Amino acid sequence: MTGAAADHGVMRRVNRAVVLNFIRTAEVASRAAIAEATGLAKPTVSLIVDELLQVGLVREIGRGPSGTVGGRPPILLAFNSRSSYLAGVHVGVRRTTVVVADALGEPLGQRTVATPRGAPVTALRTIAGVVGEVAADVGADASLMAAVGVCLPGLVTDDGILLLAPNLGWRDVPVASVLSEHLGVPVVAFNAAHTSLVAEASLGAAAGESDVVLVYAGTGVGAAALVAGQLMRGTRGIAGEFGHVRVVPDGERCNCGKTGCLETVASAPAVVAATERRWGRRRGRVSAEAVAAAAAEGDADAVAVLREAGQRLGAAAAWLVNVFDPGCLVLAGGLAGAGPAFVEPFQDALVRDALSQSVEKFRLVLAALGQDAEVRGALLLAREHASADVRIVTGSSVAR
Ligand SMILES: [Zn+2]
Repeated sequence: MTGAAADHGVMRRVNRAVVLNFIRTAEVASRAAIAEATGLAKPTVSLIVDELLQVGLVREIGRGPSGTVGGRPPILLAFNSRSSYLAGVHVGVRRTTVVVADALGEPLGQRTVATPRGAPVTALRTIAGVVGEVAADVGADASLMAAVGVCLPGLVTDDGILLLAPNLGWRDVPVASVLSEHLGVPVVAFNAAHTSLVAEASLGAAAGESDVVLVYAGTGVGAAALVAGQLMRGTRGIAGEFGHVRVVPDGERCNCGKTGCLETVASAPAVVAATERRWGRRRGRVSAEAVAAAAAEGDADAVAVLREAGQRLGAAAAWLVNVFDPGCLVLAGGLAGAGPAFVEPFQDALVRDALSQSVEKFRLVLAALGQDAEVRGALLLAREHASADVRIVTGSSVAR
Protein backbone atom coordinates (compact mmCIF):
# COMPACT_ATOMS: atom_id res chain seq x y z
CA MET A 1 0.00 0.00 0.00
CA THR A 2 1.36 3.46 -0.83
CA GLY A 3 1.70 6.12 1.84
CA ALA A 4 -1.18 8.11 0.37
CA ALA A 5 -3.46 5.06 0.29
CA ALA A 6 -2.51 4.20 3.86
CA ASP A 7 -3.32 7.76 4.94
CA HIS A 8 -6.65 7.54 3.16
CA GLY A 9 -7.48 4.30 5.00
CA VAL A 10 -6.59 5.89 8.33
CA MET A 11 -8.72 8.94 7.56
CA ARG A 12 -11.69 6.72 6.78
CA ARG A 13 -11.32 4.92 10.09
CA VAL A 14 -10.93 8.16 12.00
CA ASN A 15 -14.03 9.64 10.37
CA ARG A 16 -15.97 6.43 11.00
CA ALA A 17 -15.00 6.51 14.68
CA VAL A 18 -15.95 10.21 14.94
CA VAL A 19 -19.39 9.59 13.39
CA LEU A 20 -20.02 6.47 15.48
CA ASN A 21 -19.00 8.25 18.63
CA PHE A 22 -21.36 11.13 17.85
CA ILE A 23 -24.29 8.75 17.32
CA ARG A 24 -23.37 6.84 20.48
CA THR A 25 -23.46 9.94 22.69
CA ALA A 26 -25.97 12.27 20.99
CA GLU A 27 -29.57 12.45 22.11
CA VAL A 28 -30.79 12.94 18.58
CA ALA A 29 -28.68 12.15 15.54
CA SER A 30 -29.52 12.73 11.89
CA ARG A 31 -27.13 12.80 8.94
CA ALA A 32 -27.39 16.60 8.80
CA ALA A 33 -26.80 17.00 12.55
CA ILE A 34 -23.73 14.77 12.34
CA ALA A 35 -22.29 16.79 9.44
CA GLU A 36 -22.88 20.02 11.30
CA ALA A 37 -21.40 18.81 14.59
CA THR A 38 -18.36 17.05 13.14
CA GLY A 39 -17.52 19.36 10.26
CA LEU A 40 -17.49 16.43 7.84
CA ALA A 41 -18.99 16.87 4.36
CA LYS A 42 -22.57 15.60 4.03
CA PRO A 43 -21.75 13.00 1.33
CA THR A 44 -18.95 11.63 3.55
CA VAL A 45 -21.35 11.35 6.48
CA SER A 46 -23.96 9.62 4.34
CA LEU A 47 -21.42 7.11 3.09
CA ILE A 48 -20.23 6.29 6.61
CA VAL A 49 -23.78 6.05 7.99
CA ASP A 50 -24.72 3.62 5.21
CA GLU A 51 -21.72 1.49 6.14
CA LEU A 52 -22.64 1.56 9.85
CA LEU A 53 -26.24 0.62 9.05
CA GLN A 54 -25.04 -2.26 6.91
CA VAL A 55 -22.89 -3.79 9.67
CA GLY A 56 -25.62 -3.22 12.27
CA LEU A 57 -23.77 -0.78 14.54
CA VAL A 58 -26.43 1.85 13.93
CA ARG A 59 -30.14 1.65 13.21
CA GLU A 60 -32.79 4.04 11.92
CA ILE A 61 -35.44 4.88 14.52
CA GLY A 62 -37.95 6.96 12.55
CA ARG A 63 -38.22 10.58 11.48
CA GLY A 64 -37.65 13.71 13.54
CA PRO A 65 -39.35 17.10 13.22
CA SER A 66 -38.75 19.10 10.03
CA GLY A 67 -35.94 21.62 10.07
CA THR A 68 -36.64 25.37 10.22
CA VAL A 69 -36.39 25.67 6.44
CA GLY A 70 -38.98 22.98 5.86
CA GLY A 71 -38.28 20.00 3.65
CA ARG A 72 -38.60 16.35 4.56
CA PRO A 73 -38.11 15.51 8.23
CA PRO A 74 -34.72 13.88 8.79
CA ILE A 75 -34.28 10.18 9.50
CA LEU A 76 -33.06 9.73 13.06
CA LEU A 77 -30.24 7.35 13.87
CA ALA A 78 -29.40 5.52 17.08
CA PHE A 79 -26.49 3.42 18.19
CA ASN A 80 -27.49 -0.23 18.30
CA SER A 81 -26.56 -1.18 21.85
CA ARG A 82 -27.13 -4.84 21.06
CA SER A 83 -24.70 -4.76 18.13
CA SER A 84 -22.01 -6.20 20.37
CA TYR A 85 -21.43 -7.27 23.96
CA LEU A 86 -18.77 -6.82 26.63
CA ALA A 87 -17.86 -8.78 29.72
CA GLY A 88 -16.09 -7.94 32.95
CA VAL A 89 -14.59 -10.63 35.17
CA HIS A 90 -13.27 -10.19 38.70
CA VAL A 91 -11.20 -13.16 39.80
CA GLY A 92 -11.00 -12.75 43.55
CA VAL A 93 -9.14 -14.94 46.01
CA ARG A 94 -12.41 -16.49 47.19
CA ARG A 95 -15.07 -15.45 44.69
CA THR A 96 -15.23 -14.74 40.98
CA THR A 97 -17.82 -12.36 39.54
CA VAL A 98 -18.80 -12.16 35.88
CA VAL A 99 -20.89 -9.38 34.35
CA VAL A 100 -22.07 -9.25 30.75
CA ALA A 101 -23.06 -5.89 29.30
CA ASP A 102 -24.33 -4.39 26.06
CA ALA A 103 -22.12 -2.40 23.69
CA LEU A 104 -22.57 0.74 25.81
CA GLY A 105 -21.38 -1.05 28.93
CA GLU A 106 -24.83 -1.29 30.54
CA PRO A 107 -24.81 -4.51 32.62
CA LEU A 108 -27.37 -7.09 31.49
CA GLY A 109 -26.56 -9.91 33.87
CA GLN A 110 -24.16 -10.83 36.65
CA ARG A 111 -23.12 -14.01 38.47
CA THR A 112 -20.77 -14.76 41.36
CA VAL A 113 -19.23 -18.20 41.85
CA ALA A 114 -16.53 -19.63 44.12
CA THR A 115 -13.16 -19.07 42.46
CA PRO A 116 -12.27 -22.45 40.93
CA ARG A 117 -9.40 -24.26 42.63
CA GLY A 118 -6.75 -26.33 40.95
CA ALA A 119 -4.36 -25.57 38.12
CA PRO A 120 -4.72 -22.01 36.76
CA VAL A 121 -5.38 -23.20 33.21
CA THR A 122 -8.23 -25.45 34.39
CA ALA A 123 -9.65 -22.68 36.58
CA LEU A 124 -9.57 -20.26 33.66
CA ARG A 125 -11.43 -22.73 31.46
CA THR A 126 -14.16 -22.91 34.13
CA ILE A 127 -14.29 -19.10 34.34
CA ALA A 128 -14.57 -18.84 30.54
CA GLY A 129 -17.51 -21.26 30.83
CA VAL A 130 -19.23 -18.96 33.34
CA VAL A 131 -18.81 -16.01 30.94
CA GLY A 132 -20.51 -18.09 28.24
CA GLU A 133 -23.36 -19.06 30.60
CA VAL A 134 -24.07 -15.50 31.73
CA ALA A 135 -23.99 -14.35 28.08
CA ALA A 136 -26.47 -17.08 27.15
CA ASP A 137 -28.71 -16.16 30.12
CA VAL A 138 -29.09 -12.56 28.91
CA GLY A 139 -29.52 -13.52 25.26
CA ALA A 140 -26.13 -12.16 24.18
CA ASP A 141 -24.87 -13.76 20.98
CA ALA A 142 -21.42 -15.10 21.88
CA SER A 143 -20.17 -14.33 18.37
CA LEU A 144 -20.89 -10.63 19.03
CA MET A 145 -18.71 -10.42 22.16
CA ALA A 146 -16.29 -7.52 21.48
CA ALA A 147 -13.93 -7.61 24.46
CA VAL A 148 -13.52 -9.00 27.95
CA GLY A 149 -11.83 -7.18 30.83
CA VAL A 150 -10.39 -9.16 33.73
CA CYS A 151 -9.37 -8.04 37.21
CA LEU A 152 -6.78 -10.22 38.97
CA PRO A 153 -5.50 -10.22 42.56
CA GLY A 154 -1.80 -9.74 41.87
CA LEU A 155 0.87 -8.33 39.59
CA VAL A 156 -0.51 -8.07 36.07
CA THR A 157 1.53 -6.97 33.07
CA ASP A 158 -0.01 -4.93 30.26
CA ASP A 159 0.08 -7.98 27.99
CA GLY A 160 -2.17 -9.81 30.42
CA ILE A 161 0.32 -12.04 32.24
CA LEU A 162 -0.33 -12.59 35.93
CA LEU A 163 3.23 -12.55 37.29
CA LEU A 164 2.31 -13.36 40.86
CA ALA A 165 -0.86 -13.79 42.89
CA PRO A 166 0.37 -15.18 46.21
CA ASN A 167 -3.10 -15.56 47.74
CA LEU A 168 -4.24 -17.54 44.72
CA GLY A 169 -0.97 -19.43 44.42
CA TRP A 170 -0.64 -18.45 40.75
CA ARG A 171 2.63 -17.43 39.13
CA ASP A 172 3.47 -16.47 35.52
CA VAL A 173 0.03 -17.32 34.12
CA PRO A 174 -0.83 -15.81 30.69
CA VAL A 175 -4.40 -15.16 31.81
CA ALA A 176 -5.44 -12.88 28.94
CA SER A 177 -4.24 -15.20 26.18
CA VAL A 178 -5.67 -18.35 27.83
CA LEU A 179 -9.10 -16.72 28.29
CA SER A 180 -8.92 -15.19 24.83
CA GLU A 181 -8.33 -18.62 23.34
CA HIS A 182 -11.35 -20.09 25.14
CA LEU A 183 -13.67 -17.17 24.39
CA GLY A 184 -12.43 -16.19 20.95
CA VAL A 185 -12.34 -12.47 21.80
CA PRO A 186 -9.70 -9.95 22.89
CA VAL A 187 -9.09 -10.03 26.66
CA VAL A 188 -7.41 -7.30 28.69
CA ALA A 189 -6.25 -7.83 32.29
CA PHE A 190 -5.58 -5.44 35.16
CA ASN A 191 -4.98 -5.57 38.91
CA ALA A 192 -7.59 -4.72 41.55
CA ALA A 193 -6.27 -1.21 42.29
CA HIS A 194 -6.35 -0.28 38.59
CA THR A 195 -9.87 -1.58 37.97
CA SER A 196 -11.19 -0.08 41.23
CA LEU A 197 -9.75 3.31 40.31
CA VAL A 198 -11.30 3.27 36.84
CA ALA A 199 -14.69 2.33 38.30
CA GLU A 200 -14.59 4.87 41.14
CA ALA A 201 -13.45 7.66 38.78
CA SER A 202 -16.23 6.85 36.29
CA LEU A 203 -19.19 5.79 38.41
CA GLY A 204 -18.23 6.09 42.06
CA ALA A 205 -16.68 8.28 44.73
CA ALA A 206 -14.38 10.21 42.36
CA ALA A 207 -16.78 10.54 39.41
CA GLY A 208 -15.80 13.44 37.19
CA GLU A 209 -12.28 13.83 38.61
CA SER A 210 -9.37 13.53 36.18
CA ASP A 211 -6.48 13.39 38.68
CA VAL A 212 -7.14 10.74 41.26
CA VAL A 213 -5.02 8.51 43.47
CA LEU A 214 -6.57 5.34 44.84
CA VAL A 215 -5.07 3.58 47.83
CA TYR A 216 -6.20 -0.02 48.19
CA ALA A 217 -5.95 -1.80 51.52
CA GLY A 218 -7.48 -5.23 51.69
CA THR A 219 -5.87 -8.64 51.42
CA GLY A 220 -3.10 -6.77 49.61
CA VAL A 221 -1.99 -3.15 49.60
CA GLY A 222 -1.62 -1.23 46.36
CA ALA A 223 -2.25 2.08 44.69
CA ALA A 224 -3.27 3.42 41.31
CA ALA A 225 -3.15 6.85 39.73
CA LEU A 226 -5.28 8.55 37.12
CA VAL A 227 -3.30 11.42 35.61
CA ALA A 228 -5.18 13.82 33.33
CA GLY A 229 -7.81 11.11 32.89
CA GLN A 230 -5.31 8.41 31.94
CA LEU A 231 -4.65 5.32 34.03
CA MET A 232 -0.92 5.07 34.71
CA ARG A 233 0.29 1.55 34.00
CA GLY A 234 4.04 2.08 33.78
CA THR A 235 6.37 0.34 31.31
CA ARG A 236 5.21 -3.18 32.23
CA GLY A 237 1.73 -2.50 33.51
CA ILE A 238 2.49 -2.91 37.20
CA ALA A 239 2.65 0.76 38.26
CA GLY A 240 1.28 1.45 41.74
CA GLU A 241 2.72 -1.42 43.76
CA PHE A 242 3.51 0.76 46.74
CA GLY A 243 2.48 -2.03 49.13
CA HIS A 244 5.83 -3.63 48.40
CA VAL A 245 8.15 -0.87 49.54
CA ARG A 246 10.05 -1.58 52.74
CA VAL A 247 8.80 0.51 55.64
CA VAL A 248 10.06 -1.68 58.52
CA PRO A 249 13.80 -2.49 58.52
CA ASP A 250 14.21 -6.19 59.37
CA GLY A 251 10.43 -6.54 59.30
CA GLU A 252 8.32 -9.60 58.61
CA ARG A 253 8.60 -11.62 55.43
CA CYS A 254 6.13 -10.49 52.77
CA ASN A 255 4.22 -12.52 50.17
CA CYS A 256 6.40 -10.90 47.50
CA GLY A 257 9.54 -12.47 48.95
CA LYS A 258 11.02 -9.32 50.50
CA THR A 259 10.77 -8.26 54.14
CA GLY A 260 9.19 -5.33 55.95
CA CYS A 261 6.90 -4.24 53.09
CA LEU A 262 4.05 -1.82 53.79
CA GLU A 263 1.71 -4.76 53.10
CA THR A 264 3.13 -6.60 56.14
CA VAL A 265 1.86 -3.84 58.47
CA ALA A 266 -1.13 -2.22 56.71
CA SER A 267 -3.13 -5.01 55.04
CA ALA A 268 -6.16 -6.92 56.33
CA PRO A 269 -4.07 -10.05 57.09
CA ALA A 270 -1.55 -7.88 59.01
CA VAL A 271 -4.38 -6.35 61.07
CA VAL A 272 -5.81 -9.79 61.75
CA ALA A 273 -2.44 -11.26 62.79
CA ALA A 274 -1.68 -8.34 65.13
CA THR A 275 -5.11 -8.63 66.74
CA GLU A 276 -4.75 -12.40 67.17
CA ARG A 277 -1.45 -11.83 68.98
CA ARG A 278 -3.00 -9.26 71.33
CA TRP A 279 -6.07 -11.39 71.96
CA GLY A 280 -3.97 -14.53 72.42
CA ARG A 281 -5.91 -16.35 69.70
CA ARG A 282 -4.52 -19.00 67.41
CA ARG A 283 -3.86 -18.01 63.80
CA GLY A 284 -6.82 -18.10 61.45
CA ARG A 285 -9.45 -17.71 64.18
CA VAL A 286 -10.15 -13.99 63.63
CA SER A 287 -11.44 -12.12 60.57
CA ALA A 288 -10.80 -8.50 59.57
CA GLU A 289 -14.56 -7.87 59.87
CA ALA A 290 -14.44 -9.14 63.47
CA VAL A 291 -11.57 -6.74 64.27
CA ALA A 292 -13.53 -3.81 62.79
CA ALA A 293 -16.66 -4.80 64.73
CA ALA A 294 -14.68 -5.10 67.98
CA ALA A 295 -13.11 -1.66 67.41
CA ALA A 296 -16.56 -0.16 66.82
CA GLU A 297 -17.57 -1.54 70.25
CA GLY A 298 -14.51 0.03 71.84
CA ASP A 299 -12.17 -2.98 72.16
CA ALA A 300 -8.85 -1.30 73.02
CA ASP A 301 -6.70 -3.91 71.26
CA ALA A 302 -8.69 -3.73 68.02
CA VAL A 303 -8.66 0.08 68.12
CA ALA A 304 -4.88 0.15 68.68
CA VAL A 305 -4.19 -2.32 65.86
CA LEU A 306 -6.38 -0.45 63.36
CA ARG A 307 -4.87 2.88 64.42
CA GLU A 308 -1.34 1.59 63.87
CA ALA A 309 -2.22 0.19 60.42
CA GLY A 310 -4.10 3.37 59.45
CA GLN A 311 -1.18 5.56 60.46
CA ARG A 312 1.30 3.44 58.49
CA LEU A 313 -0.85 3.59 55.39
CA GLY A 314 -1.61 7.30 55.75
CA ALA A 315 2.08 8.15 56.12
CA ALA A 316 2.84 6.17 52.95
CA ALA A 317 -0.09 7.75 51.09
CA ALA A 318 1.37 11.19 51.87
CA TRP A 319 4.16 10.37 49.40
CA LEU A 320 1.61 9.67 46.69
CA VAL A 321 -0.27 12.90 47.40
CA ASN A 322 2.93 14.94 47.12
CA VAL A 323 4.02 13.11 43.96
CA PHE A 324 0.70 13.23 42.07
CA ASP A 325 -1.05 16.33 43.46
CA PRO A 326 -4.45 14.66 42.99
CA GLY A 327 -7.80 16.39 43.28
CA CYS A 328 -9.13 13.37 45.09
CA LEU A 329 -7.78 10.38 46.99
CA VAL A 330 -9.98 7.30 47.19
CA LEU A 331 -9.44 4.88 50.06
CA ALA A 332 -10.58 1.44 48.89
CA GLY A 333 -10.42 -2.23 49.84
CA GLY A 334 -11.77 -4.05 52.89
CA LEU A 335 -9.99 -1.86 55.46
CA ALA A 336 -11.58 1.29 53.99
CA GLY A 337 -14.80 -0.11 55.43
CA ALA A 338 -13.29 -0.74 58.87
CA GLY A 339 -14.66 2.52 60.23
CA PRO A 340 -13.18 5.59 61.93
CA ALA A 341 -10.70 3.51 63.99
CA PHE A 342 -8.79 2.96 60.72
CA VAL A 343 -9.84 5.90 58.53
CA GLU A 344 -9.19 8.74 61.00
CA PRO A 345 -5.56 7.77 61.81
CA PHE A 346 -5.06 7.29 58.05
CA GLN A 347 -6.28 10.82 57.35
CA ASP A 348 -4.37 12.35 60.29
CA ALA A 349 -1.07 10.77 59.23
CA LEU A 350 -1.61 11.79 55.62
CA VAL A 351 -2.33 15.42 56.52
CA ARG A 352 0.56 15.45 58.98
CA ASP A 353 3.12 14.06 56.53
CA ALA A 354 2.16 15.54 53.15
CA LEU A 355 3.00 19.07 52.08
CA SER A 356 0.30 21.35 53.49
CA GLN A 357 -0.19 22.89 50.01
CA SER A 358 -0.78 19.40 48.60
CA VAL A 359 -3.59 18.55 51.00
CA GLU A 360 -5.13 22.02 51.00
CA LYS A 361 -7.53 21.45 48.13
CA PHE A 362 -7.86 17.73 47.79
CA ARG A 363 -10.70 15.50 48.93
CA LEU A 364 -10.31 12.22 50.77
CA VAL A 365 -13.23 9.91 49.95
CA LEU A 366 -14.11 6.32 50.72
CA ALA A 367 -14.72 3.99 47.79
CA ALA A 368 -18.42 3.98 46.95
CA LEU A 369 -18.90 0.92 44.77
CA GLY A 370 -18.05 -1.74 47.34
CA GLN A 371 -17.51 -5.26 46.07
CA ASP A 372 -18.66 -4.34 42.57
CA ALA A 373 -15.81 -1.89 41.91
CA GLU A 374 -13.39 -4.42 40.45
CA VAL A 375 -15.81 -6.06 38.06
CA ARG A 376 -17.30 -2.72 36.92
CA GLY A 377 -13.81 -1.37 36.31
CA ALA A 378 -12.91 -4.47 34.31
CA LEU A 379 -16.05 -3.91 32.24
CA LEU A 380 -15.18 -0.24 31.61
CA LEU A 381 -11.67 -1.24 30.53
CA ALA A 382 -13.15 -3.84 28.16
CA ARG A 383 -15.37 -1.13 26.67
CA GLU A 384 -12.39 1.19 26.26
CA HIS A 385 -10.47 -1.58 24.51
CA ALA A 386 -13.38 -2.39 22.21
CA SER A 387 -14.00 1.22 21.22
CA ALA A 388 -10.34 2.05 20.59
CA ASP A 389 -10.78 1.81 16.83
CA VAL A 390 -8.18 4.47 16.33
CA ARG A 391 -5.36 5.46 18.56
CA ILE A 392 -3.18 8.45 17.97
CA VAL A 393 0.40 7.70 18.98
CA THR A 394 2.89 10.59 19.15
CA GLY A 395 1.77 12.32 16.00
CA SER A 396 1.30 9.29 13.78
CA SER A 397 -2.07 7.62 13.48
CA VAL A 398 -2.21 3.92 14.19
CA ALA A 399 -5.33 2.24 12.92
CA ARG A 400 -6.34 -0.96 14.63
ZN1 LIG B 1 6.14 -7.24 49.64
